[in-house]
Amino acid sequence: MSIAENVQAIRREIGDGVILVAATKMNDAAAVREAIAAGVDACGENRVQELVEKQAQGAYAGAPLHFIGHLQKNKVNKVVGVCDLIQSVDSGELLTCIRRRARQLGVTQDVLIEVNIAREAQKGGCLPETLPELLALAAAEDGVRVRGLMAIPPISAQPGANIPWFRQMRELFVDIGGKKYNNVSMEFLSMGMTMDYTDAIAQGANMIRVGTAIFGPRAYR
Ligand SMILES: *Cc1c(COP(=O)(O)O)cnc(C)c1O
Repeated sequence: MSIAENVQAIRREIGDGVILVAATKMNDAAAVREAIAAGVDACGENRVQELVEKQAQGAYAGAPLHFIGHLQKNKVNKVVGVCDLIQSVDSGELLTCIRRRARQLGVTQDVLIEVNIAREAQKGGCLPETLPELLALAAAEDGVRVRGLMAIPPISAQPGANIPWFRQMRELFVDIGGKKYNNVSMEFLSMGMTMDYTDAIAQGANMIRVGTAIFGPRAYR
C-alpha cells in the first residue's frame, strides 16, 4: 500500500472529527509531502535537527507542523514560532523557556502538556499531580497558550492494554476543562499511535499521532 492509500484508509476509519498527525520521524521530505497531499491534518516531528533539515527542503508546506519529541531547553529557539503546536511541554522550566522566546518574538506559542500517565521511569511527561502547578504557571503570564494534553502510554503488544491509561487521561482532560485558568483551554487530547489509536479514540482522543501505519516500518540503524 502507498502512503496515500494508508492515509485514506486511516481517514475512513477515524472520520473527520479526529485530527490525524503524521509522525514523520525518519521519513524523508518526499514521504512527508506525499502524506500531506493525501490529507493528513498536521506533521509531527521528534527531533529538532531533523525538523530543521526537512523544513529547509520544504517538506511541511501545506500542513501545520507540530513538535512531538523531547525538547531540550537549548533548542527552544529553533521550535518556538516555527511549530504551530509543541505537544511535549512537561516541566515548568521548559514552559518558561518557551514563553520567554515567544515573548521575544511577539508571538503566542500553542502547546500541549505531556503527561507521563503510567509513571514510567526514563520517560518524558510530567506526573499528573504536577499539572495544577504547570497550568498556574501558564496562567500567570501571556506568551504560551495550553490547548490540551498529550500522552505516550507504555508500548504494549497486548491489545487493549493502554485503555486504562487513555481513560485516566480523559478524566484529567475533562477535569481541567472544568476549571478556569488564563491561557488554558482543553481542546486537544493527543493520544494513540499505530498500535492503539482506535482504543485511544474510543476513550476520547481527538488527535492521534501515527507513523508506521502511514509510512511503514522505520529503518532504525
Ligand atoms: C514515533 C511517534 C509516534 C508514532 O508512532 P507509530 O507507532 O509509528 O505510529 C507517535 N508519537 C510520538 C511522540 C512518536 O515519537
